[in-house]
Amino acid sequence: MDHLTSIEKDARYIWHPYTQMKTAAPPLPIVRGEGALLIAEDGKTYIDAVSSWWVNLHGHGHPYIAERIATQARTLEQVIFAGFTHPPAVELAERLLQILPSNQAKVFYSDNGSTAVEVALKIAIQFFHNQGIIKKTIIAFEHGYHGDTFGAMSASGDLSFNIAFQDYLFQVKHIPPPLPGQEEASLQAMNKILGENEVCAFIFEPLVMGAGGMLMYAPEMLDQLIKMAHYQGVICIADEVMTGFGRTGKLFASHYLHEKPDIFCLSKGLTGGFLPMSVTTCTQAIFDAFWSDDKYKALFHGHSYTANPLGCAAALASLDLLEQEDCQQDIHEIIQQHQGFKEKLARHPKIIEIRQTGTILAIEFKTSEGTSYFNNLRDQFYAFFIERGVLLRPLGNVIYILPPYCIREEQLNKIYSVIEEALFIP
Ligand code: PMP
Repeated sequence: MDHLTSIEKDARYIWHPYTQMKTAAPPLPIVRGEGALLIAEDGKTYIDAVSSWWVNLHGHGHPYIAERIATQARTLEQVIFAGFTHPPAVELAERLLQILPSNQAKVFYSDNGSTAVEVALKIAIQFFHNQGIIKKTIIAFEHGYHGDTFGAMSASGDLSFNIAFQDYLFQVKHIPPPLPGQEEASLQAMNKILGENEVCAFIFEPLVMGAGGMLMYAPEMLDQLIKMAHYQGVICIADEVMTGFGRTGKLFASHYLHEKPDIFCLSKGLTGGFLPMSVTTCTQAIFDAFWSDDKYKALFHGHSYTANPLGCAAALASLDLLEQEDCQQDIHEIIQQHQGFKEKLARHPKIIEIRQTGTILAIEFKTSEGTSYFNNLRDQFYAFFIERGVLLRPLGNVIYILPPYCIREEQLNKIYSVIEEALFIP
């Protein structure tokens, strides 16, 4: 078998995520990463314009994070987290609570964005169950995306990739997100559902709805929706899995709000993109509904690798870097550079809309097929960018840039120039 190349072995043994294995091009073998660059087996480099599925913050192979993980690995690599604790988990929880909105009081660890959402939904549901209150309705946004496990799929909007599972998902009431032009429809739908149902939770991606097409809406609108929900005692869940840790220009998208969500889901950038880890945080009042002499009122959720010390060490190191003035300056420069490119493309005839929130820039292309995840333009663009050494993964007809903060000015300019070149594809 050793005569096979790594690509041939990959084809023989591996099933890749979100990939039609029959028709997809062979995967690119990446052997190294450095800053915003991915380096392939053949020496070719690719600018990682999407932070490797939105996880990387400070660059690939960052020596400071790598060193902190290595030190932790030699000290304590893993320990069961029921009945035990360890310093990196305690320190990380304390630091996260210092930077999250001030109503957050408790941190629950899990492994990825989807499980952070599962935990949030379970907490909200059991919060009422533990008090003997019957409140069952969950509200979420149309076009929202919260992950690939069953609870997260249920909360997600009507996405084309969840069709096979529709009959197995639990009922969630979806309202239009308050996108520009449909603010009133969103408020009215929320009002109607709150009036007709006993609502348990409202889950949302604050300000930027990622996988649904980098849809963006104003914080004032979310404030209004949360206010309405809070008035009825609804638990508001901010899924900041994608927006967390600086992507929107502030540490969390919720920092643009006046209202404070009750639960937060964080993952992706949490470890700087080094290790899979997530947290679900909540208020003291929510935690108190689980605090009891009754064992059945405990939160029955946990994973083998809960609060993995290596993940915690990576997250602590990533937070050190994120809080440095240099990193905040990098974020500021990306925002400014994006603004320049946005203005340059503003009235291009092939563009429906170009929108920006912080370091995230999304360009919606006109296409005869309309807006859809499976739009053929997507595959054409993807290959076009890869050929030119840039990793961009359009969502249907939406090309977006979501770079690591260490990206250099000339690397961003190269991304802009390949996007401009793509505008000339007939
Ligand atoms: N929530 C949001 C807002 C996301 O963008 C994602 C992933 N793209 C998830 C949840 C799920 O995260 P994971 O892929 O780590 O399960």
